Parts: sequence; C-alpha cells; structure tokens
Amino acid sequence: MTKTYFESGGSTRTMKELKKTGKCTHCLKEGEIGQTCSDHPDRVYTHQWADLNDVFPLGALEVWYMRPECFRSHGSFGDKPDPKNLEATHILLGKVGSGPSDVIPLTPTDLEDLWVKLQGEFWSPNGEANAMIRALGLRHTSISVGDCFRFANGRVWRAEMMGFEVVR
Ligand SMILES: [Zn+2]
Repeated sequence: MTKTYFESGGSTRTMKELKKTGKCTHCLKEGEIGQTCSDHPDRVYTHQWADLNDVFPLGALEVWYMRPECFRSHGSFGDKPDPKNLEATHILLGKVGSGPSDVIPLTPTDLEDLWVKLQGEFWSPNGEANAMIRALGLRHTSISVGDCFRFANGRVWRAEMMGFEVVR
C-alpha cells in the first residue's frame, strides 16, 4: 500500500509505505501517528523522513548545512568555509538533483528554487525532518545564510544574504 504524502515542485513524491508509528516532534519518542505525545500535550506523533530523498529526488548536488557551533564564526558576516575541507564547518544533509545521473545541469535558478524548498515550512511542515536533523547533529531545518551546495565538480556555492556565491 502506498500513500502520497508530500508534493514537491509539481512532482508528487510517493512514500513506499507510510508507517503507523511516528515520533513526537519535540522529544522524538515513538507513538501512533496523529496521537498526542504522552509527555508533550501540544505535540503529536508525526511521520519522520528517513533522509532528504524522502522529499527530493536523488542527484549529485550535495547539500551541506553549517555545524551549529560554526554559526558564530562562519555565519552571515563570518569567514568563508574552506571549499576543500567543507567537513570542518559543515555537515552533509543529503544529495539532491534532477535525477541519479543529473543529466540536466543545475542553474542558479535551480539553487534559488532549492532554497525555497529547503525552508522548513516546505519540506518539514509538521516537523517531519526533526529526527534526521537531530541525528545528523544539526539544529536548523530551514536552509540559512552560510549553508552550502557542493557540485559534482567540487565547486562550492554558499548561501548569502542575497542569492549564492562560489566559495574560493
Ligand atoms: Zn514528546
């Protein structure tokens, strides 16, 4: 049995199977989807994404979110990351693109489009990303200034106050 759970940019993503159990979006305790958490009366057990590709098609474009402890040093007005050592300041959120082989090259417009879709209200409207975000050691769901995309050719683009810039 499959259930359409999420619609993404005109293409409907279909979950293989929707489990009956979800997690409290606050404490991540498991329970029946839709029921109220026994410890948090304002939260319900919610389906959780396994990874980014529950929402976005798999591709060669890597999405890197800034490590929580690096926001001060590498945030809006901070240092640029080292494109050859992104791991030092960022954590790989997942890989997305136009498809497994990325036949269609991504353009700056595609990055803008991804920026919009990586906002929490789009890809985690009910807290569906909370478990994977925390498991990765991240604290933010919406893409923010300082977060990066890394292309298959190694080029890194960093989200700025306005648009994206190549990191050199
Ligand atoms: Zn709870």
